[in-house]
Amino acid sequence: MGLRLGQGCNQYKIGSRRQINRFSFFRGNKHILHIALHFLVPLVLVAIFYPKAWRISYLLMLAGIAIDVDHLFADPIYDPGRCSIGYHPLHTLGPIIIYVAALIPVTTRVVGVGLCTHIVLDAFDCQLTSGVWYIV
Ligand SMILES: [Zn+2]
Repeated sequence: MGLRLGQGCNQYKIGSRRQINRFSFFRGNKHILHIALHFLVPLVLVAIFYPKAWRISYLLMLAGIAIDVDHLFADPIYDPGRCSIGYHPLHTLGPIIIYVAALIPVTTRVVGVGLCTHIVLDAFDCQLTSGVWYIV
């Protein structure tokens, strides 16, 4: 077993013939992973920051997923290769400024964290699919 040069840093030779790419699971299932992160990351955040009121905090953070309603205005509604940030109306700079501003008042902070978490996760998805953080 050894690293085969010239085949990319993620390629490893297993045995004599079989090779696996250690990130192939994430590439093949990245859309499932992306959707799962929209549910898991807020769960981790409420466990850390709102352990006493985690149920209602989690529901309020999940409300951040509602901004994906803007996909309904796109054609096709879902395109796995498309970067959301800067493309869909609720994923553009104006709304993002409002999401960040929602972090300031204590009364809207949980929703703001959910919305900003959503944008950050979508930006990482843009990076993985298109190599950019946003499109203009
Ligand atoms: Zn989104």
